Amino acid sequence: MSVLTSQPILNGAVARPRGMFVGAYRGLVNLLHLGLTENGETPRDPAETLDGIIPRHVLRRLLAALQFRDPGTIRHGRRVAILAVALAEHLGWEGRQIKVLEVASLLHDIGKIGVPDTVLYKPAKLSDDELELMSLHYGIVLDVLQACRVDREVLQIVSQSQVACGSPDSLKSLNSSPHLGARILAVADAYESLSGARTYRGARHHDEIMAILKEGIGRKFDGNVVTALSRYITLHGLPFEDHVDELDETLRRHGPESIDDLNDVNELCHIFSNLYILESLYDGFFILDADYRVRCWNRGVETMLGYPLLEMYGQPWSNRLMSGDGGTAPLGKSSETAPLMEQALQTGRPVVSQMVMTRTDGRELEVEAQAIPLYDDQGGLLGVLQILRDLTRSGRRRTGEIAELKLAASRDALTSLANRGELETQLSQLIIDYSRDHTRPFCVIFADADHFKNINDTHGHGVGDRVLIDLARLLEQETYSGELVGRYGGEEFIILCPDTSLEEGVRRAERIRHAIELSHVGGNKLLRVTTSFGISQSEPGDTAEKVLRRADKALYMAKHSGRNRTCSLTISDKAAATISESVAAPTVELTFEYETKFTANVPEDLIVYKLSGFVTDHDAQIVEVSTSRVLLRAGRTGLFGFWGSQPKYQPVELEICFDDRGDQAKSGRKVAAKANFHVRVRPQGWIWNADVFRYRAFVISTELKHYLAGV
Ligand code: GH3
Ligand code: MG
Ligand code: MG
Repeated sequence: MSVLTSQPILNGAVARPRGMFVGAYRGLVNLLHLGLTENGETPRDPAETLDGIIPRHVLRRLLAALQFRDPGTIRHGRRVAILAVALAEHLGWEGRQIKVLEVASLLHDIGKIGVPDTVLYKPAKLSDDELELMSLHYGIVLDVLQACRVDREVLQIVSQSQVACGSPDSLKSLNSSPHLGARILAVADAYESLSGARTYRGARHHDEIMAILKEGIGRKFDGNVVTALSRYITLHGLPFEDHVDELDETLRRHGPESIDDLNDVNELCHIFSNLYILESLYDGFFILDADYRVRCWNRGVETMLGYPLLEMYGQPWSNRLMSGDGGTAPLGKSSETAPLMEQALQTGRPVVSQMVMTRTDGRELEVEAQAIPLYDDQGGLLGVLQILRDLTRSGRRRTGEIAELKLAASRDALTSLANRGELETQLSQLIIDYSRDHTRPFCVIFADADHFKNINDTHGHGVGDRVLIDLARLLEQETYSGELVGRYGGEEFIILCPDTSLEEGVRRAERIRHAIELSHVGGNKLLRVTTSFGISQSEPGDTAEKVLRRADKALYMAKHSGRNRTCSLTISDKAAATISESVAAPTVELTFEYETKFTANVPEDLIVYKLSGFVTDHDAQIVEVSTSRVLLRAGRTGLFGFWGSQPKYQPVELEICFDDRGDQAKSGRKVAAKANFHVRVRPQGWIWNADVFRYRAFVISTELKHYLAGV
């Protein structure tokens, strides 16, 4: 080993590598938490992990974030899953294998969550550069799946399906024939993509698609799978028709239902966009967790060093690194990166060093390596990130590329405003300044265009983009020097106002709100856009996250109290909002529970009997029974807990409390007895829609009433 230089980097309040945003650091910390329970443990309960395939809560979070970012991709994933499962069943698969394939298919495009908006929402064919940027999502899905601790086969199916599944070269690179699931997924994915219309081309017909697939046999697709698909469709037709309701449902937009959901989705999007930055800035990286197991081995480091990610997945690092047995020690002459990581862990700071590494094929590689220890908020060690740059590979060009990317990484491509990473860096600085001098608070103004989706739907994405650009200009015009205005994501903007009181902040927001309301935007004289604002002010004890969250919550209140208004929130009035102008106090409905009370002529000893009829007819489950309370569950969730579009089956929990009014004691006749019922209905599963839920709750509690009151 030859260490060329070795210099620790001391980097301000937060330990992070040069050029790495505070946000990116936090994104990685959150990534390491992804597959864990709230207590930081690995979930083991088979029911909670879909038989160990993937923690159920993680699957939900990922799909919710994808739904939020790109409903089109979630529809595609669902259709690919249906087709892949049908094909696998046709080929005789069953049980857990099918579930593994279904999960892999649903998640195969999840990396798109991190694709920048300008590329993801581009209404035309992508340029070569954009395609290259877009293609990073193939690597990101693998990073995330590893961090989620998915079943190895899911990782295998997704990663191998990305490689051309029938070519001799791909077979060589895989060392063995790809998993059949990967070959099925590759074919199902291609079929589904070709059958859907794109902005730049129409949908293709079955015969046309089959011809394309057949042409790809031996290069991209497995001939047996293509033949099986052809036979399946001839025999049974396309399987999508059986799932029309379910698919319609996935097309409906189910926005996050509570602030917590919204924060959760935001957090995930954040993780993805930071992986995107990491993937685009560095040649390779890997992350070890606190137990020194490989939690993420990216495609870049796989290519650089030759160690396949499927071999490294979840492996204890120390054994391989320290064994020094030459043959399996991953980083060539074993201990090369060990001192670097040790130094980083001892000092608690990122360390950078240039060194020569040996690839699996014996070739030597000159690299710049950075080891960055990752800590949680309490200072507990979560793991180490190791970033590698290949100095041999046309070093000069790379440096130029990196400088460009870094610049691009602080500006939003569509509006040229500061982007989310830049906003977060500046916000962290404001927090540091404020912690030194509490007499000078700052404000965070969160602005979100109202009903923006309608603009896209009605006028097209092109006009939507223009509106965003116009909004960005208006915001810039209305901000003072020293303030920073940036695009936080989609149609959300943030203005950071140093040295500003909450009252001033509200006045500022109101001025901007009026300016937007009166402006023509999107190049259309008839188009008017309004915006809602949420404001918070720094308070003692605040972190960047807390002050941002408060502004976000205030924005949520502004939305829920009618939009086109400004709400502010302080720590002390968490629940009560200060609202601009003459707007009435908001009613923020965050819990969903349907409640009804009624009295029925039913003697106590018949209550459970009558309920049992209801239970049988509704195929319900009895969860708990006591002398005055019965807890039932009715309806079904799909495999992943989705609510379908048929109200009859939506899963709900019914809590039925009853008290005997004691009338029978007076009358002495049990049949005359009356009981008071108090029924509470709550939704079960996830991705349910509030209106559908209320309807379902009304119908089922009315039915319950009939059963109890009937003779
Ligand atoms: P609300 O008043 O509740 O904020 O409703 P909304 O429709 O504005 O909010 P929602 O979050 O439902 O939809 C935001 C839409 O913004 C969805 C997405 O398609 C669109 N969007 C996000 N980024 C871009 C972009 O860069 N260009 C265009 N044209 N649309 C975008
Ligand atoms: Mg909006
Ligand atoms: Mg929004």
